[in-house]
Amino acid sequence: MILKLLSSAHLNDKYVKRRDFLKILVMGVLGSGVTSEALAKKITVFTASKTDPIDDHIRDYLYKMKHFDTTHRDDIIIEKNVYHTFKSTVKRLIRLQELVGHGNFHILGFDDAIKLTRYYPEVGKFTRKELDFMEELFYRDATQYGFLGEKTLLRLSDRIKKGEVMYLSRQGNYLYRGRSYETYNKIKQQVGKTVTLTSGVRGIMKQFLLFLNKAYKNEGNLSLASRSLAPPGYSFHANGDFDVGQAGFGALNFTDRFTTTDAYHILCDLGYLKLRYERDNRYGVRFEPWHIRIT
Ligand SMILES: [Zn+2]
Repeated sequence: MILKLLSSAHLNDKYVKRRDFLKILVMGVLGSGVTSEALAKKITVFTASKTDPIDDHIRDYLYKMKHFDTTHRDDIIIEKNVYHTFKSTVKRLIRLQELVGHGNFHILGFDDAIKLTRYYPEVGKFTRKELDFMEELFYRDATQYGFLGEKTLLRLSDRIKKGEVMYLSRQGNYLYRGRSYETYNKIKQQVGKTVTLTSGVRGIMKQFLLFLNKAYKNEGNLSLASRSLAPPGYSFHANGDFDVGQAGFGALNFTDRFTTTDAYHILCDLGYLKLRYERDNRYGVRFEPWHIRIT
């Protein structure tokens, strides 16, 4: 049984117009550092009709990206009839992470996760409804709730190969061997202890937990969650990207305050901050100055 995740309310006229706007974004009109006025000028070329001023959509889009962590009028929320399944999935994922440990959980695949839950009553088996819920979420087109990035994992069963990654015990995170690890090593050699790895490889289960838990803490708001966390299957942490931060700066490393740190300035000067999600990016994701683009 496939659960119906989203309400049909979004399939109205306004949604269709918003979808046209999202298509324009995907075509690459928005870029970093472009002012909303300049964007408005550019985008009028694509305006479908005079009664649908697309610059309102641009303003709306940029406003949402700036206020990524608050609820907006047309955000997509988990429906009431699946809320219970959504909540029990989040709770089970948290118990599973406790069982395998935070480090191992980063690279746990979907099939292995299901197998594990069968043997550990303290986690409990995923119910049919929970499995269907995760499957539907994984294969859903994330542009529906405003996320416009590429899909990085095509199948729910795609897994991180253990031989391709290495564990950094002090940071409690994995990095891909090759370019990711070499880049991180170079950064460490040049910047030293000021900088640290805050998040490395993330497989499908970790992304499920991060994304769904963020939505759970915000009344099931999937759009809000997707503005700061890629939905499962869309994270470049599955392909080699990683996050860095100022040592000792804690959770503030994942806020704009990171741009005030020494680590940020040194990394900028050395040219390491090739960002995936720049300011006013076109992927529907907040500005993430800590996320290093590798792939
Ligand atoms: Zn990141």
